[in-house]
Amino acid sequence: MPTIANNLKQINARMRHAEQIYHRAENSVQLLAVSKTKPTCAIVSAYQAGQRNFGENYVQEALNKQRELGAFDITWHFIGAIQSNKTKVLATHFDWIHCVESLKIAQRLSSQRPDFLSPLNICVQVNISHEDTKSGIKLDELDDLITEISSLPNIALRGVMAIPAPEIDFAMQREPYRKLVAAVKTLNNINLNTFSFGMSDDLEAAISEGSTLVRIGTALFGSRNYD
Ligand SMILES: *Cc1c(COP(=O)(O)O)cnc(C)c1O
Repeated sequence: MPTIANNLKQINARMRHAEQIYHRAENSVQLLAVSKTKPTCAIVSAYQAGQRNFGENYVQEALNKQRELGAFDITWHFIGAIQSNKTKVLATHFDWIHCVESLKIAQRLSSQRPDFLSPLNICVQVNISHEDTKSGIKLDELDDLITEISSLPNIALRGVMAIPAPEIDFAMQREPYRKLVAAVKTLNNINLNTFSFGMSDDLEAAISEGSTLVRIGTALFGSRNYD
């Protein structure tokens, strides 16, 4: 069996196991395959093994792959940093945008979403590790921002995404996710049903705290040469 198909099987087994031991409903966590820097043939291998959701970080790289894979039934997620001069192409070529961190960007995505497409799914990125260098809004800004974004016509606000500082200790990995989920629950917004967090090294911790979408690159496609 090819390596990517094997890796996919193992990751899905890890996810199902984590759902079980942390009392999550079976299949309540989905896998987003992060294919940045990887060739189109790697996406095809994962696709042939059943994977349908793919995440890309770089606009031009993603567009090239989408062009090659036009006939494939793929749901495309943009998980990179958003430059405001790229919102039109993002609104046109993606199904999901994960790193929205300002009303201005959300407004542009809404107004530039083509009419013939369904509303663009977005997640607001929250900075839960309080590192100055990491992007994302602060937890106490979340309430206001989601209220404003909720009123945009061509946006389906789905939830939150986070990239916490890497930790090795399991309890430390869980902590920021626990805080984020607790904060979202206080907002009482039933439309926020997506928790986009957990990567190759902390997917169990993420699932234990309520992740619904883990974004996995390295464990599926192998290590990257550049990021
Ligand atoms: C690259 C990337 C991932 C995948 O990380 P791995 O550690 O390779 O699983 C997940 N999320 C985002 C936003 C990324 O940029």
